[in-house]
Amino acid sequence: MATKRDYYEVLGVPRDADDNTIKKAYRKLALENHPDRRPDDPEAEERFKEAAEAYEVLRDAEKRRLYDSYGHDGVRGSGFQGFRSYDDIFAHFGDVFGFGDVLGDLFGGGRRRDPNRPRRGEDLSTQIAIEFREAARGCSKEIEVERVIDCKACEASGCAPGSRPETCPTCRGTGQASMSRGPFLMTTTCPTCQGRGRRITKPCEECRGAGRVRQHETLKVEIPAGIESGMQLRLTGKGGTGVRGGPPGDLYVGIGVHDDPVFSRGAEHLLIELDVPFVQCALGGEVQVPTLDEPTTLKVPAGTQAGAVFRVEGQGLARLRGRGRGDLVVRVRIPVPTKLSSKEKALLKDLAAEEGLAVGSGKRGLVDRIRENLNG
Ligand SMILES: [Zn+2]
Ligand SMILES: [Zn+2]
Repeated sequence: MATKRDYYEVLGVPRDADDNTIKKAYRKLALENHPDRRPDDPEAEERFKEAAEAYEVLRDAEKRRLYDSYGHDGVRGSGFQGFRSYDDIFAHFGDVFGFGDVLGDLFGGGRRRDPNRPRRGEDLSTQIAIEFREAARGCSKEIEVERVIDCKACEASGCAPGSRPETCPTCRGTGQASMSRGPFLMTTTCPTCQGRGRRITKPCEECRGAGRVRQHETLKVEIPAGIESGMQLRLTGKGGTGVRGGPPGDLYVGIGVHDDPVFSRGAEHLLIELDVPFVQCALGGEVQVPTLDEPTTLKVPAGTQAGAVFRVEGQGLARLRGRGRGDLVVRVRIPVPTKLSSKEKALLKDLAAEEGLAVGSGKRGLVDRIRENLNG
């Protein structure tokens, strides 16, 4: 990979630039180097990509913080790879972040004013909480959403059955009204039909002429194994219905994952704190470790200390990007036994004697002795 330029330098903004300044700088560069304007210009394409990448990082507080602290490596560490192509950029900003509107403002400006243009349906979002092990294994969940769909009664026309929209009497279907202002003839959007050129005389009773209704729906969501708390799934086309033939919006499902009493996670690795009796730590031995599936056997070498870390490869969580699974990372805790049989006590006392340690209640303190003398 060639050396990357500093993102602030790419956008030509100071390091303390606010979000608005960054956005403006990006718009300007995107406009100058946009493929519609500069077709087949590889340098413009490079600049367009570079600007998109810089913008992607600097507009996100967390990525910007990583970049400020660690440079390009910090951002790479967070999983961001940059963009490969125009399609990448448009797919990313256009869909995932609704940034398409900014590009739309710039490049599709003229068409936006047509009230009869097809419009994309609205994006919806909802949240769902799942258990740790459901996230680890993947699961399928039902969610409730309320979304706008085409009215079935009137097939989205907005007209009562048997009726049809009539041509707007004010503008005679042109959608535009003219009025004279002195020597000038001004053209504006027709106020009667808001530029649609048609008027609904008998509105559909179900949707009151809107052609669309709100509906409660239950949707099934497949949640992939390995998903992390705070991630979002996008269900393409499950948002509101499009208007006048426009595509439907998307539904975003935010995922919250409950903690687990046994496991926690670090990226794709499953973490567990495991109690290992000190005898096994001292002499070495085999212990059973819970995994997401069947418990597995872990060999603990002699002389294992509290806090020692062992890895069981491939017993972690599914990698969302890429193949395979992470590891199970086992951190050893050495509990001190609190309930001892008399035989265990005797053995431990032998051990203490061997090591010359003063143990147990056999060695009474001065206070105990004085108290005994006073009482006795
Ligand atoms: Zn209707
Ligand atoms: Zn009209």
